[in-house]
Amino acid sequence: MSKIIVEVKDLKKHFSTPRGMLHAVDGIDFKIKEGETLGIVGESGCGKSTLGRTLLHLLESDGGEIYYDGENITNIDQAKFRELRKEMQIIFQDPFSSLNPRMTVADIIKEPLIIHGIIKDKKKLDEKVLELMETVGLVERLMNSYPHELDGGRRQRIGIARALALNPSFIVADEPVSALDVSIQAQVLNLMQDLQKELGLTYMFITHDLSVVKHISDEILVMYLGKMVEKTSSKKLFEQPMHPYTKALLSAIPVPSLDVKRERVLLKGEIASPIEPKPGCRFAPRCPYATELCKDTDPEIEEIMPGHFVVCHYAKEINKL
Ligand code: SF4
Repeated sequence: MSKIIVEVKDLKKHFSTPRGMLHAVDGIDFKIKEGETLGIVGESGCGKSTLGRTLLHLLESDGGEIYYDGENITNIDQAKFRELRKEMQIIFQDPFSSLNPRMTVADIIKEPLIIHGIIKDKKKLDEKVLELMETVGLVERLMNSYPHELDGGRRQRIGIARALALNPSFIVADEPVSALDVSIQAQVLNLMQDLQKELGLTYMFITHDLSVVKHISDEILVMYLGKMVEKTSSKKLFEQPMHPYTKALLSAIPVPSLDVKRERVLLKGEIASPIEPKPGCRFAPRCPYATELCKDTDPEIEEIMPGHFVVCHYAKEINKL
């Protein structure tokens, strides 16, 4: 059985705002097995990117624990973290804004190797850059190009090559294909899957688009306003979504067959505020099944079926279980 490489327990990240504390991530738990992908899905503003950044220590957590390869890394010191940074990398959403426009492709890819003092010899650095470019499908003649001279797909390949430069084991991919055309999205997703198999990488793949993570994820965690609402295998989530919010998200994905009819669930009502949130289910103002109980009392995580976790007072009734 694969070992657990990343685990978070009750992770919290809150931000101070003029109107009170914004609960961006409010008690999230999950484990990711080595070589697997956990998809994190939710609408913009649900806290999924904050979750990824807090896990990587790009933001300081406000509660809970983070484990990497069995070690509690929640409060590690800077020196230890520098070492860990080689193991844990991030790929950003918008390759254009995350790449320095004044640096060539080669300079962008070699920068982490120089910062961490991994390779000092110029010839060896160039050889490593070429190796990384080949790994991500970039041809040698692009070495001296600048990001603005390349299309979105190639720019994202630079971002991936840069993330791979330090030979990481774990990568947080934060909306890595959202800024790309659909045809290029497929190419980048295929590349990420091939690299995962080849290098044994573990991914946390963050996206607002459930259809994007269907094939790349082993498990999917759905978030709503800082909280987890559902978590299970990708297969089960698409076959039998159980939380009303996941059902609505899935109903918005077009079905590529005229024989299959899927009823679109339109969410009405206002989105609750994540600032000083009131007790009760955060989805209640938009949920067609909400009762007084939902408005007053937080639902607990329940394993409705083996390996299928749902956070809803009425998950069994709604799903006729
Ligand atoms: Fe809807 Fe209530 Fe379930 Fe929340 S707890 S998802 S409001 S039924």
